[in-house]
Order: sequence, then structure tokens, then C-alpha cells
Amino acid sequence: MIKRIKGTQDIYFEEMKYWHYVENAIREVTRLYAFQEVRTPIFEATELFKRSVGESTDVVQKEMYTFEDKGGRSITLRPEGTASVARAFVENGFVNLGAPIKLYYVGPMFRYERPQAGRLRQFHQIGVETLGSSHPTADYEVIEFAMNLLKKLKIDDAKLYINTVGCTKCRPKYKEALKDYYADKIDGLCTDCKRRYNSNVMRLLDCKIDEGVAANAPSIHTYLCDECSNHFNELQKLLSANDIDYEIDPKLVRGLDYYTKTAFEIRAESLGSQNQILGGGRYDGLVEYVGGKSVPAVGFAAGIERIIMVLKSMGIKPETEEIASIAVLPMLENAFTLAFEYARRLRRKNISVFVDVMDRNLRNRMKHASRIGAKIALIIGEEEIEKGLVTVKILETGAQFKVDGDFMANFIEEKLIEL
Ligand SMILES: [Zn+2]
Ligand SMILES: [Zn+2]
Repeated sequence: MIKRIKGTQDIYFEEMKYWHYVENAIREVTRLYAFQEVRTPIFEATELFKRSVGESTDVVQKEMYTFEDKGGRSITLRPEGTASVARAFVENGFVNLGAPIKLYYVGPMFRYERPQAGRLRQFHQIGVETLGSSHPTADYEVIEFAMNLLKKLKIDDAKLYINTVGCTKCRPKYKEALKDYYADKIDGLCTDCKRRYNSNVMRLLDCKIDEGVAANAPSIHTYLCDECSNHFNELQKLLSANDIDYEIDPKLVRGLDYYTKTAFEIRAESLGSQNQILGGGRYDGLVEYVGGKSVPAVGFAAGIERIIMVLKSMGIKPETEEIASIAVLPMLENAFTLAFEYARRLRRKNISVFVDVMDRNLRNRMKHASRIGAKIALIIGEEEIEKGLVTVKILETGAQFKVDGDFMANFIEEKLIEL
């Protein structure tokens, strides 16, 4: 038997309800906030991710699915969504459409991670990006959107953490200060920290192994330029004025040059140590990095599998989805024409219908009707065909009615309201 690839999963039946629950909430909240969907290819030129995600990151160095296609091009399955959105923004000239451009995406991402960490190699993310505004209100709106999405999902133990990572003017001095601080401690730190000391020194702050050393590191807040400092203060004012609780976490960092100013995370207290549900921030340098003009931007991404884990750990169950309200059961070979006709009539009334296309007896047909959650069975046998009647059976009570075929659809519509 051919099995699925390690680190991937089939999603179906009961599990699918969680996905629909999350996806429906995403569609609803993005509509309310006027974000428009963008769908980009799941593979791109490798260069795009090297430039945008960053050569020095774990993602690019160790985790990308990169291959050469038959034309000799280096192709990579997207490890995240923002780079593609920035590329699409530049390539399709969104910059001429007026600012801001508010986009969202939902889809699979691919990273070659160690499966024992409980991580999937194909996972799914939702992300939103506001492009074209440098104003802190854009940061605020993206955060408010994120909080409301979680509220819509009934995740009520979500907590917001914010920080700033400065900009290309003020950050270099801070990085120097960090290097000075870590210079005589680096020998005692983990291998990741040793590697990042030169390539990405700010990431030393969020190392889980060396938390103790990071605790006394200098804070970026004493190095911020006026612009970054004002931006951060304005964001905090907006959050307070709109009653969104937050905590400043000076260890919340993004290491790459195109990240600027705001960084934020939402964590679920119920998840324990790996409790981040959602992360985002401002990336004013990215569009220029992928070859466009300088366009300020802010956004976030969240893992859908992670959100579903939170839902389960909180005991939140999506509502049961019936597969079909009505099961139409043709008992004879020549009952099928009528069965499909009745099914069409019901569907025109927006009622979901399952027509039993199997060859089996009534008992087994009824059994399957229950299995798919049907409320009513419509039985069409010899007598029904001859007299133009149809047997309507309410599955929960067992009550049966003989109904004229012409009135069947109205009768069922009324019965469904009662049930
Ligand atoms: Zn600055
Ligand atoms: Zn470390």
C-alpha cells in the first residue's frame, strides 16, 4: 500500500468540522474588516524566499522543500505566505490601485521539519497583510482583527504581547550593544545562539534554552529613535483607547532587516509552553527587498492546526454538520427517475439531499440515512410510483406520512422547520 508522506495528514469527517469552523470564521471576519483574498502559487522561485525570509534563517538553511524542475530552475514550495504576497503586490502593480491594499490568504505551507517535534511538513496558515500605510492605526487594525478572529472562534484566553524592533536607523546601535553584552557569554550558550550571534543576534533574546542570560540583556527601548518610539507609543494609546489588554514583551523579536517597529504575538494561556497562536508585525522593508518600491506593510500569520489544537484543549466543539437533511431512497430500479426529480425539487428549496444510489434493502438504506445525519427519509416504492404518493419518514420519531408527490417539497420544508 502506498502511504502518505511523513509529516502530512488527511483531514476528513469529524476533524473536517474544525477546519470548516475555523475557515468560516476567517471568511466572516475578513469580510467584516474588508480584507480581500489573494491566492498565490504554492511554489515560487527559490530566490524569493532566500531574499525575503532571509538566508540566515533556519527556514531557508534547513527547512525548505527546494528542487530543480525540468527546465533547470530552482523551485521552492512556499514555507510561508508573506513573501508571495509581497511578490504578487509588486508583479501585479497593486501599488497603483490606491493605498492601503488589504489582503488575506489561507492555504498550505511546506517546511521540512523534524516530525518528532509534532510539527507537520505540510501545514496551513491564514495571514492578513495591510500594504501601503506607515501609520500606527494600520498596526492597530491588524491586531484588532486578530483579536476579533479569536473571539469569533470563542478562544477567550488569548493574550496580546507587543514589542518594537526599531528600524534601520536605530537598530544597528542596539545590535552592537547586544553583541557587546553577549561577547563574553557566548561560549556557554547553545549551538543555535552561537550560530545566530553573527547572523541574527536579536534572536538570542528569544532562545528558550538561554532565557536566563537573555533576562539581563540590554533593552531595545533605550535605543529607539524618535520615530520608532513615537510609533510604539501611538500603538499603545490606540490599544488602550479601544480596551485591548496587552503586555510589552521586550524579548519578542524578529531578526531580519526588513522587519521594522511593531512586533506582536497572541498566546493562549491554556497551551502551556508552546503557546503562541499568532504572530505578526510591521515589515516596511520587504516590498523593496523583493524588487518593488518602498511600501510600508503590516500583517500577521497564524497556523490553522495550532488554532485547532487550542480549540480542542479548550473543549470548544464546532457544531455538528449534517451531510444531508433528506435521504431519498428509491426502492426499485424504475424509481430512480422520480427520486432524482424529487431531489431536484428539494434542492431548489435549498435543502441538502442524499439520493441512495446503492442497490440494497430498506433496512440498510435507512441505516445509512441515519449515519449521514438525515432527518427525513423519502421512500419511493411500487405503490408510491403507481399512486403518485411518497412516504415521508421522520427518522427521530419513526412517524410516517403518505404525501402527494406534488406537495412533497412544501410538506418537507415545513417538517424541517418543526424538527
Ligand atoms: Zn528607529
Ligand atoms: Zn540559545
